[in-house]
Amino acid sequence: MVDLVVRGGTLVTPSGSVRADLAVEDGRICEIATEIGGARDEIDARGLTVLPGVIDVHLHFNEPGREDWEGAATGSRALAAGGGVAFFDMPLNSTPCIVGRAEFEAKRCALEKNSITDFGLWGGIVPGNRDALAELAECGAIGFKAFMADSGLPEFPRSDDLTLYEGMREAARVNRPVAVHAESHEITQALARRAAEEGRRGIRDFLNSRPVLAEVEAIERAALLAREAGAKLHVVHISSGRGVAAALEARARGTDICIETCAHYLFFTEEDVERLGAVAKCAPPLRDACEQGALWDAVLAGQVDVIASDHSPAPPEMKTGDDFFRIWGGIAGAQCTLAVLLEAGFHRRGLELGRVTELTAATPARRFQLQGKGALAVGNDADFVLVDLQREYTLEESGLFQKHRLTPYLGARFRGAIRRTVLRGQSIFGDGRIVNAGLGKMLRSAG
Ligand SMILES: [Zn+2]
Repeated sequence: MVDLVVRGGTLVTPSGSVRADLAVEDGRICEIATEIGGARDEIDARGLTVLPGVIDVHLHFNEPGREDWEGAATGSRALAAGGGVAFFDMPLNSTPCIVGRAEFEAKRCALEKNSITDFGLWGGIVPGNRDALAELAECGAIGFKAFMADSGLPEFPRSDDLTLYEGMREAARVNRPVAVHAESHEITQALARRAAEEGRRGIRDFLNSRPVLAEVEAIERAALLAREAGAKLHVVHISSGRGVAAALEARARGTDICIETCAHYLFFTEEDVERLGAVAKCAPPLRDACEQGALWDAVLAGQVDVIASDHSPAPPEMKTGDDFFRIWGGIAGAQCTLAVLLEAGFHRRGLELGRVTELTAATPARRFQLQGKGALAVGNDADFVLVDLQREYTLEESGLFQKHRLTPYLGARFRGAIRRTVLRGQSIFGDGRIVNAGLGKMLRSAG
């Protein structure tokens, strides 16, 4: 008798959707078949769709050191409530930032204690830490993140071109991808300075200081450096259709590039920033409807590889002020990635569920070489989410699991209620509640 059978759901597998039972033994999927016998435990999935659990490759839980901003306990609960089973935490905004072995080990210990989902850790590339990259990879860093524009934190300075190139060479040597925040420092800084000199500090002034051109220029430059260095490149949070087009051109010229966008660029536009204010401030900023349409076209055409949340919360007092440039940026949305893809993708635009699972699970697992993750297949970890595709709901404050109730998604209507999230065969979220904590462990790349 197996540990668990999930009965009668529609399973979204790598070879298509099938109505079948799924059996779990020792945390792994051991059988997928039309009728599986008795089990110690059963989940009735009739009428529900079963997708692989979301692997969010880009977010900021800010632990250790800034748990008052979020923390892994609350952040991973939000992720699980949104169908997530694993996340990759960025090397900032925890304190200290993850630029060496001691910082890495401190964060690993904190997250092993507090995360209810699995996790991986990004290391950082900053000027002067090239020699630390090999030891970070040895500790288990799944890749390295660098900023081409100001990160907002003095302790995580941006990488100049030579720092980035040399960091990429070292990353290639230790077989880890390099993620870049791709916005031109020169363009964004100069436009911000000009706005300040002219006393323009409003929302529209901020949006205008970070044009699509700044993103496209930085993507092209990063792609050139990665190609020269022989590194795998991961461009985080591409906000525009033109950004994706630039990345595709770089791929055609031979750069090994992974294209990430975030749910908020697909769900909100710059009009929403003007309506909602600081809660919808991020960099690169939300774009106009035309640019968002081009980004959706890219998603629907299969040109985007990964969709992450870039969940990046801050305490409410950092989200107010008269000068929009000085207000802390970052959108808190760890709970909403799958919700956005089901409502705005599957329901409104006909995005196939198989594509949804590639964007949120299969490609993250493949790109970062996570063995046994990211797909409903025999032998893989039993990581999945049960969704009622037709059930409609409004995201209310009472349904949020993140630390602060600040998110632009509040009040949004979604079709596709998340009924249960299962990590390695154990329910971690069900019936609107967290049901099992303490399971999270660190993931390593197999390469
Ligand atoms: Zn980020």
